[in-house]
Amino acid sequence: MPQTDPSFTPCCLKCGADAMIPDVRVVDRGQNNHRHESELGLQVRPEALLFKGEVRVGTWAQVCGDCGFVEVYAADPAALWDAHIDRLANDLD
Ligand SMILES: [Zn+2]
Repeated sequence: MPQTDPSFTPCCLKCGADAMIPDVRVVDRGQNNHRHESELGLQVRPEALLFKGEVRVGTWAQVCGDCGFVEVYAADPAALWDAHIDRLANDLD
């Protein structure tokens, strides 16, 4: 989990307060008020009519308990990076 990462800093990048709250869920409300986790999506073949190969990953956030600054992170950045590389390769075709 992110807060066990040795690079994790409990200090707010905005105001410097030592008050970061880790692992906050990013939740949206959709149709009929259904709650769902927020996702990031990247299409590997955006020009395709079908099978655009969208890669989706979840998100997590940390929030400053002092100023309210929110940092949102991709839960699986490597998957998005791989999709990005694949998209670049497709552009060369
Ligand atoms: Zn802050």
